Amino acid sequence: MKPAEQTSYHYAELGTADRRVGAVDRRAGALPRVAREHSLATVGARPALRVARTLDRDRPAVQRSADPTEIARQRLERRIGAHLPGRRLALAVTDNSFTMISVKREKGLFRLRLHHMFLEADHVVVRALGRYVGENDRHASDALGRYIDVHQDDIRRARRPKTPAITLETSGEVHDLHQLYGDLNARYFRRRIEARITWGIRTPDGGRRRRRNSIKMGSYSVEDRLIRIHPSLDRDFVPRYFVEWIVYHEMLHQKHDIPVVGGRRQFHTPSFLEEEAAFEYFDRARRWERENLNRLLFY
Ligand SMILES: [Zn+2]
Repeated sequence: MKPAEQTSYHYAELGTADRRVGAVDRRAGALPRVAREHSLATVGARPALRVARTLDRDRPAVQRSADPTEIARQRLERRIGAHLPGRRLALAVTDNSFTMISVKREKGLFRLRLHHMFLEADHVVVRALGRYVGENDRHASDALGRYIDVHQDDIRRARRPKTPAITLETSGEVHDLHQLYGDLNARYFRRRIEARITWGIRTPDGGRRRRRNSIKMGSYSVEDRLIRIHPSLDRDFVPRYFVEWIVYHEMLHQKHDIPVVGGRRQFHTPSFLEEEAAFEYFDRARRWERENLNRLLFY
């Protein structure tokens, strides 16, 4: 049997690991233990609701047949299906910001997910979709790439973040988060991440640093599209590549969906983890974390 094949278009899947909270077992001689816990803890107040919104973003528009979007979906499904004679097609229309087209080939069925920008596609583009789905045709792929480029605005409009009044503090004493984020966005995300970033609340002047049991190094709030980085990382001994890794991890949360698996939200899906591992200094950053966690915990 041929395995199901997954093709993602336009935004290539890069590549993983996880942990944001370091917890140290304080028993004498015990090694620091890094708890694999999730950073979306900031989402705190109404996690279920916020996550539901995240899922909405990528949910196929198949609710009611009277829904105009559903009618448009069915129409597009028929139009593309006409170019795939003798084969079955299931189309889902999404508002996913990263994957404009994905095709899963199962036995006797093409599962196609398309960004809603394709609802207005003309017959040339529809034919290209048919060829891309049916034959993975390279010319069709090029034509679709051009269509996506021309419709960039549709994606951006859908992705405009809300802007609650939060004071952002990006230039730290050592690391400039704004600069670091922009650099990562260009290097890894084709500048497609639209989040804000800030240092977390600092210990007030005169406040004494002390040894803690855990540290949440970064977090990403889905609803506010806000990345917070722990100020403990804004110190001379913390290398830039380590701060970058934490920021990169949080940026990935905007890109990746949060499916519910076995009744639990899965923040770090296999594809998330795979992409996290593609970070240039992944191994080095993890090693540095192991070796320096005790210093980071002193804040
Ligand atoms: Zn995470």
